[in-house]
Amino acid sequence: MNRGLLLVLSGPSGVGKGTVCSELRRKQDDLIYSVSATTRAPRQGEVDGVNYFFRSREQFQDMIARDALLEYAEYVGNYYGTPRDFVERTLDSGKDIILEIEVQGALKVKEKFPEGVFIFLVPPSLEELKERITGRGTEAADVIDNRMSVAVEEMNLIRYYDYAVVNDEIDAACHRIQCIITAERCRKDRF
Ligand code: 5GP
Repeated sequence: MNRGLLLVLSGPSGVGKGTVCSELRRKQDDLIYSVSATTRAPRQGEVDGVNYFFRSREQFQDMIARDALLEYAEYVGNYYGTPRDFVERTLDSGKDIILEIEVQGALKVKEKFPEGVFIFLVPPSLEELKERITGRGTEAADVIDNRMSVAVEEMNLIRYYDYAVVNDEIDAACHRIQCIITAERCRKDRF
């Protein structure tokens, strides 16, 4: 039996990774979705063990110390990380798994799983990205500028990825990702 495919969906902050991944979750039920651990507080409607494993900083640091995370990163003051065991067990069982994570974490996964399929979600334009970052809340201008310069730096990491998918429209972006999954499943070296 083949090992499952490890898929990583990443891209700059504000590009809409979470939204696209939720849509994919609705449409592609033969994929396993990795649930991350985080120290950020749950948002309204979020459920522990479904959206994230919500943990204290102490609990998270304990997971780091036990090497229980495949990767982790600090993002806007909170830790986010991928539980290692679940990923390994899923791949060993021959099922495909997808991780929706920010770019630093994705690069760490690539070091450990160079055979993974790395998909970079691209904003249609930097203007559009700025609109999305601005539209997310009531951030001050300097915070927005800071996020934009981080996003521009993050865009340069596209060279480490296998695929670039423009998120111009959620359905279309989702469809492109589904095509990539189908193509990767059909690679002749998997037979
Ligand atoms: P949010 O707080 O909006 O749910 O997520 C913030 C950012 O953390 C998003 O860019 C999301 O992709 C990223 N993220 C979620 N889980 C993980 C993870 O396990 N590892 C890393 N490195 N980033 C994550």
